[in-house]
Amino acid sequence: MDEIVENRKQIIKYISKSVEDTYKLAKILSDRLSGGEVVLLSGDLGAGKTTFTKGLAQSLGVDETVTSPTFTFMKEYEGRLRLYHFDMYRVCDEDELYELGLNEYLYMNGVCVIEWNKFEDVPKPINIQVTSLDDDKREFAISGIDLDLSKI
Ligand code: ADP
Ligand code: MG
Repeated sequence: MDEIVENRKQIIKYISKSVEDTYKLAKILSDRLSGGEVVLLSGDLGAGKTTFTKGLAQSLGVDETVTSPTFTFMKEYEGRLRLYHFDMYRVCDEDELYELGLNEYLYMNGVCVIEWNKFEDVPKPINIQVTSLDDDKREFAISGIDLDLSKI
């Protein structure tokens, strides 16, 4: 674990060496969620955004299998908290999100996890940048929440 302070905004970096590590990180975050949070996941295709979301869902007690909501833009899951998983890769612009009413989910009491975010203004997001370093190695750079990763 590596903590750096950049422009007064703390970024916590975690190197995951396996999908299991990524699930452990997701559990640490999920234990801190109480509803109303918006998690923005960014990073290239195959970085591990959906895998992280699967870990988060598991830790929130979601029984259903989480799959990419590519064509529906959003899938909803029932757990300790309601999970709204967005994939906005195919969303053209923010107007489309408003036409579909997807903006309303930002203000519900569940947890929004958004891949390829297209919302221009998300209040107090938790930002997670995922970078693939090699085969199974991924860097997670987290800002917007202070996580204690010493338990991983
Ligand atoms: P994205 O949603 O960012 O496009 P996915 O989560 O769908 O990416 O895919 C990530 C792929 O990388 C999966 O096949 C997963 O098994 C693999 N992978 C290998 N190592 C890791 C790791 N440490 N963390 C997350 N995913 C990993
Ligand atoms: Mg994905």
